[in-house]
Amino acid sequence: MTDIPGPTRTGRFAPSPTGPLHLGSLVAAVGSWLFARSSGGRWLVRMEDLDTPRVVPGAADDILRTLERFGLTWDGEVVFQSQRTERYEDALRILRVKELVFLCGCTRADLARAASAPAEGDAAETGATIYPGTCRGGLPPGRAARAFRFRVPPGVFTFEDLLFGSLSEDVEKTVGDFVVKRADGSYAYQLAVVVDDAAQGVTEVVRGADLLDSTARQIALQRALGLPTPSYAHLPLVLGADGKKLGKRDGALPLDSLNPARLREALAFALSALGQEPAESPRDAAHRFDPSRIPREPRPAPG
Ligand code: GLU
Repeated sequence: MTDIPGPTRTGRFAPSPTGPLHLGSLVAAVGSWLFARSSGGRWLVRMEDLDTPRVVPGAADDILRTLERFGLTWDGEVVFQSQRTERYEDALRILRVKELVFLCGCTRADLARAASAPAEGDAAETGATIYPGTCRGGLPPGRAARAFRFRVPPGVFTFEDLLFGSLSEDVEKTVGDFVVKRADGSYAYQLAVVVDDAAQGVTEVVRGADLLDSTARQIALQRALGLPTPSYAHLPLVLGADGKKLGKRDGALPLDSLNPARLREALAFALSALGQEPAESPRDAAHRFDPSRIPREPRPAPG
């Protein structure tokens, strides 16, 4: 597609084609569509197919046909991240010139070992794996380069989420230097999403609340690359029977299961999870869309 950067209000839906659309991703699709369309904006679809071992053949097409069945129309051509490697390479080159990335030779096992060593402060409290900085000052002798990591600047990143309000994160403390190009040579989600949102002129990122904790990392990369920061709205998650974010298998909406009754039910569920009144179609819902009614609480999938 031709990139059209510009001020036009532009939203997007960026599924990973690892299976059919499910109720959780439907909420993100409907929510981002309503934000964009209710204000006359553009809505783009981007397939995030960089994590090749997880990509399921045929899933991208199934998702697109499913979006069509719901009446979630998109603008322009669908973008596939797997076809945009050159752009990610360019971004990495900029980061290298600015010395904002470094080569890391740590394996997962090295990092797990470092994480289980007694830690102090935030790391110990959250139990999260925080990059310990092993290769930040150069590869230790005898280590082969595996991945590129972004040198996270110190300090707190603050952003305004349309639903969650003002949020702050000190990425250096919560995550540390994170991977932008992986050991298998593929580019990481965090880098690709930032490059593509800017290249496609995305002005509003509306997606599931599971990505709230990626946002500060993405803002750090936008600043490092001199790219604009879009607005953010994180939508309520849909929970499976186990109380966790809906997995691939629960609530799946494969195209061949979508008879008219199932379509209506799924749309009704998505609108209610978004706090909106029932509607016949997304277009109908767009006329009455009220973002102030979107709840923050996750919603269990229908049993
Ligand atoms: N591809 C990501 C997912 O399916 C979404 C990325 C985004 O919206 O920023 O979870």
